[in-house]
Amino acid sequence: MTPPSTPESEPPRTQRLFFALWPDEEIRKHLCALADDALPRRVGRRVRAENLHLTLAFLGFVEERMRHCIEEAASAIRARRFTLIFERLGCWQRTGVMWVGPLQQPEGLIFLVDALNSALTDCGMSSEKRAYRAHLTLARKVRRCPRGCAIAPIAWDVSRFCLVASHTHAQGAKYEILRSWKLNN
Ligand code: ATP
Ligand code: MG
Repeated sequence: MTPPSTPESEPPRTQRLFFALWPDEEIRKHLCALADDALPRRVGRRVRAENLHLTLAFLGFVEERMRHCIEEAASAIRARRFTLIFERLGCWQRTGVMWVGPLQQPEGLIFLVDALNSALTDCGMSSEKRAYRAHLTLARKVRRCPRGCAIAPIAWDVSRFCLVASHTHAQGAKYEILRSWKLNN
């Protein structure tokens, strides 16, 4: 498919994009209950239930032509389903981010993140150089980070990944799932 041409006079349309895993209703409920327990009201800025996600790869602002390349590359990924077990609640003092994460990153997750990063570089984008640390943000701007602790495990059977657009609003980011891909059995 040929990407739509943009008249010279118009700046190219860009969207702020990222790949993510999106929890279903049941996992969201567990995460919200956990955040209710872990965070007293008005401490930090809770991520709204509909915004909860786990970022796989962050793309930043991307033009349509690049988005097309990345979607094609993502469609060619053959990755398997995996179970992600959230077992730890943590907080990064420097950024005030409170998160849940696994004790061990499943192989399937590492494979998928690597494949997405390869897709980005194949399309000519730079990809994350830092080692991937799977975490799902529950709250931001937490001033006094509690100590990390073990939590009752939340097992998430991950069967798809998605491409998401992030829209900035005064009330906070709004996310739009543009497309999703199934993982293999
Ligand atoms: P806001 O920036 O409006 O507070 P947000 O951080 O949720 O909201 P985005 O900045 O669009 O929205 O980020 C989308 C997702 O990508 C989030 O999970 C965010 O943590 C992650 N992200 C953002 N910037 C980066 C980055 N430079 N590297 C890795 N991940 C990033
Ligand atoms: Mg941000």
